[in-house]
Amino acid sequence: MAPERFFLELEPPAPDLAAAPHVVVVGGGFAGLRLCQALAGQRVRVTLIDKRNFNLFQPLLYQVASGLVSAADVASPLRQMVGQARNVQVLLGEVNDLDLERREVVFNGQHYGYDRLVLASGSGTAYFGHEEWRPLAPPMKILEHAQEIRRRLLMALEEAEQTTDLVRRRFLQSVVVVGGGPAGCELAGSLVELMRSAIQRDFKQLKEQDCRVVLVDAVERVLPAMHPSLSAAAAGYLRANGVEVRLNTLVEAIEPGTVRLKPSTAAAGAAPQEEGVDPAEQLRAATICWTAGVRASRLGKLLAERSGCATDRGGRVLVEPDFSIPGHPEVRVLGDLCCYRHTADGAPLPGMAGPAVQMGAWVARDLLNDLAGRPTAPFRWNDLGTMAVIGPLYAVADLRGLRLTGLAGWLLWGLAHLAFIPDTENRITLLSRWLWQIATRQRRALLITGRPDQHLGVDVGLERARSSGTLYAEG
Ligand SMILES: Cc1cc2nc3c(=O)[nH]c(=O)nc-3n(C[C@H](O)[C@H](O)[C@H](O)COP(=O)(O)OP(=O)(O)OC[C@H]3O[C@@H](n4cnc5c(N)ncnc54)[C@H](O)[C@@H]3O)c2cc1C
Repeated sequence: MAPERFFLELEPPAPDLAAAPHVVVVGGGFAGLRLCQALAGQRVRVTLIDKRNFNLFQPLLYQVASGLVSAADVASPLRQMVGQARNVQVLLGEVNDLDLERREVVFNGQHYGYDRLVLASGSGTAYFGHEEWRPLAPPMKILEHAQEIRRRLLMALEEAEQTTDLVRRRFLQSVVVVGGGPAGCELAGSLVELMRSAIQRDFKQLKEQDCRVVLVDAVERVLPAMHPSLSAAAAGYLRANGVEVRLNTLVEAIEPGTVRLKPSTAAAGAAPQEEGVDPAEQLRAATICWTAGVRASRLGKLLAERSGCATDRGGRVLVEPDFSIPGHPEVRVLGDLCCYRHTADGAPLPGMAGPAVQMGAWVARDLLNDLAGRPTAPFRWNDLGTMAVIGPLYAVADLRGLRLTGLAGWLLWGLAHLAFIPDTENRITLLSRWLWQIATRQRRALLITGRPDQHLGVDVGLERARSSGTLYAEG
């Protein structure tokens, strides 16, 4: 028997919008939100569907993981960002199917029609065929991931404070970060600083020399997308501040509390990075984090199945110069979900916030021009540069060849992020939190929440995770 088909048709809030073209946008991240902002107040009916009710500023997730800021400081409710525009409807739901013939998306078990469809559902984390590593080494892609990393590290420090066994104490004070891109460098730099300041001020039994943070990457330098001089500056800063940087090193296996390493093929013939380092070593660490791989959202594969369009190796949809797919000019794909190769050198645009925002603005303009029968000048990506913050008051930045490190880089990084964050309230809160941290070196967001033994059912008293009394389960 054919499944029952529910069709959701919502009345537009204003009668004059009933006949207006209906644009359905899936994903309120950098690309989708910018597109909706540009369509707000225009003569189109817009429905924004997202599985979360907020826009997340991913570049600052590492600050949530390291207790510098709290979750609400980097997230903005979509209803407040665009839902108040009279022509924009925000709906909470996860789109899990597409019917291109009928021009419908499927979410919350219902079909919903569109005239134009924009897919901007972003990307997730790849474990290169080892999904079983995910619970042992959480990624850093959504708010809950950052909170989980923070919870694991703080729980480990709490247990270390009560542990007399020196070997276990060192294990609890050890962190491995896999992936030497911007997110991995930022996380490693921030976690070493968090441990150091927490131990100096807040924990009486712990010693700084027992802390260990190891950053592992398979390639020969950190920040491989940046100029080699900036990679060298970043690695130098991390090492000087106590992070062990293991390059040319692959993760062979992850087991509870253990990361097994082996030399990468890139390392063949290359000298080890640090004297005395065994590339086949086993690292023991209570906190393991994964920032190494990216894969496009599942909607890319689904769209390919439904339309026959092509995807690249990372599951990104190969798009036309106007971000449509072959045979479906009414469907556009933006941000991390698309592979846009129509550049001067044919190289795809990077999966970063800057291109995503510019794509959103351009496609909004193109949709309006298209509906009005006007042409749009071709999309041109304006490369504003790349940057990564490696420690307190230290960042590396590359602005079209102008390379900055240290405080100058950090000031630029801070200004750029404050300008980029889409919510004014968060902009003010973040600035005040950063200034407070610079002045006092205190982190305000070091709460341990989300413990499995502290849930709705727990009324009074402490429920221990294990009858042994161990707060942190080594596995
Ligand atoms: C830790 C980290 C640090 C980063 N740092 C930087 C940086 O410093 N600079 C930089 O330029 N870039 C950075 N990036 C990359 C940047 O955040 C992404 O390139 C950017 O978010 C892509 O924007 P997007 O709109 O394509 O997707 P996203 O911003 O990821 O938004 C996708 C949205 O789609 C929603 N969604 C997904 N699937 C569905 C579905 N099936 N149904 C409904 N909704 C769905 C999600 O909830 C989300 O809101 C970083 C990324 C990470 C993870």
